Amino acid sequence: MQKEKDVRILELMTRIYCRAKHKTKKGLCDECAELLIYATQRREKCPFGDEKTFCSNCKIHCYKPEMREKIAKVMRFSGPRTVFYHPTVAFGHLFETLKYKRKSKKEEKERNKNVKENN
Ligand SMILES: [Zn+2]
Repeated sequence: MQKEKDVRILELMTRIYCRAKHKTKKGLCDECAELLIYATQRREKCPFGDEKTFCSNCKIHCYKPEMREKIAKVMRFSGPRTVFYHPTVAFGHLFETLKYKRKSKKEEKERNKNVKENN
């Protein structure tokens, strides 16, 4: 997981959470902004660099307990919703794969049609 991508997903999740839970219309409330800054800083200092997976899977829990609780709440709430609202972020790769498969299937059909017409 790349750092930039990780941070973007983190930001997205915090936004979804804040909008739903704190009724924030635009951006983030102070509490969530603080959380996001904290999480981003932790990510920057992460000893695993780009090698790491999500923080929830991480062996080193570098968050202080208070922040850990908060980010866990955000993840639990926004995790499934991220897939719903932003499938391209969550499932970018999967989508690309499906698109490619569909395209090659269509091409195959065309090919078969042409063969039939030529006969
Ligand atoms: Zn908030």
